[in-house]
Amino acid sequence: MTIKTRFAPSPTGYLHVGGARTALYSWLYAQKMGGEFVLRIEDTDIERSTQAAIDAIMEGMEWLGLEWNEGPYYQTKRFDRYKELLTQLLEQDKAYRCYCPSERLDAMREEQMANGEKPRYDGCCRNLSEYPTDVDHVIRFRTPQEGSVTFDDHVRGTITTQNSELDDLIIQRTDGSPTYNFCVVIDDWDMDITHVVRGEDHINNTPRQINILKALGAPIPEYAHVSMILGDDGKKLSKRHGAVGVMQYRDDGFLPEALLNYLVRLGWSHGDQEVFSIDEMKEHFSLDGINKAASGFNTEKLLWLNNHYIKTMDTSYVAKHLQWHMEEQGIDMSNGPALTEIVSAMGERVNTLKELAAASKYCYVDFEEFDANAAKKHLRGVALAPLELVATKLAAIDEWTAENIQQAIEATACELEVGMGKVGMPLRVAVTGAGQSPGLDITLKLVGKARSVERIAEAVKFVAARINS
Ligand code: GLU
Repeated sequence: MTIKTRFAPSPTGYLHVGGARTALYSWLYAQKMGGEFVLRIEDTDIERSTQAAIDAIMEGMEWLGLEWNEGPYYQTKRFDRYKELLTQLLEQDKAYRCYCPSERLDAMREEQMANGEKPRYDGCCRNLSEYPTDVDHVIRFRTPQEGSVTFDDHVRGTITTQNSELDDLIIQRTDGSPTYNFCVVIDDWDMDITHVVRGEDHINNTPRQINILKALGAPIPEYAHVSMILGDDGKKLSKRHGAVGVMQYRDDGFLPEALLNYLVRLGWSHGDQEVFSIDEMKEHFSLDGINKAASGFNTEKLLWLNNHYIKTMDTSYVAKHLQWHMEEQGIDMSNGPALTEIVSAMGERVNTLKELAAASKYCYVDFEEFDANAAKKHLRGVALAPLELVATKLAAIDEWTAENIQQAIEATACELEVGMGKVGMPLRVAVTGAGQSPGLDITLKLVGKARSVERIAEAVKFVAARINS
């Protein structure tokens, strides 16, 4: 049997982290089992579904590398098929037309709720002697009145529901459109889905869907209902918690690998291992390892993982992602070091690529002014002699290597009989504009000779002006 999983988003918004995690688990399971992964767009809610959301979902999945083998299927293109099976169920008396006006249903619901009962349809149209077709109606599934439905959920264990607790659900609305529970069942069947991985908000639909599958004589897939994600504050993760759309994480400077690693661990574990390459995820993932408890989102941990991937992944791969951020920040890269050098020199100092782009800007373009605090502290009168001398020595370097730069700085400190910091700090502020950077030898190498010397000259002017004021 080929394992087949699916991700079935309703295109009413972007791909949020909860959806991305569900997609990841589905995809991983198919990958692990050598199976297939289907993308199905559940766009039957025409009012709320948009093309922009479909594009955003696919963009998010592509960015994460969650490739689908089949699809995207669109439910709106499958109405004929749903109709065909609705007709079949009607003919077999496994479904029936219901004419109850909404006022009656509303009043019934209110009364049931007032009595503390679960709202349910009372089966009024279950056994009519005639079922006219030319009167407004919905179609309801004839749920068995006896017995129960049991399924073994991979996350939640065995779940049994008495049929007496389920009412006759609507499978076609008055306007002729099929409902969610019906379409999902037909699709999962037609697409040969063997494992349904989805959010636990659908767990109450599962017994209903199983009853419909049974009525159609279709095989029952296995299920894994994944728990919710909570925000740092313990509430259900929502827009209030900031970046919840997957593409927002790209914009904020995360690598897809970091987000995938974060998401796989958010609700699944394999011993106490925290870092998983995609291959390791594929190797170790199992539906039974998914946690039952809700998971809490932890931004700190995501940042930690991102830093880990920035500093450990292939530098040219990281550089490719960094380039996107450089462009996004409008940094002209035509004059400056290769981005791979930036990644090697500064990668470990940052948590995000957005930060890295901003932090490396001075290697490509001149800064407007010195950081006020750094300048106040380090570009003072005492810095004049060290800056002038180091500029001369740097200007004399033939081969602009880290070693030669380091030597020039050391020789300056030695000649002036001052500590390295008395040369280094003014030099750092002069060349980078700020008080923080990687080692000066590497920093100056990245900035380049001409630019370094020019900037020191500017700093000398700045100090001189300050002395005279
Ligand atoms: N379209 C449903 C949703 O986005 C998912 C249905 C399913 O996975 O069965 O919540």
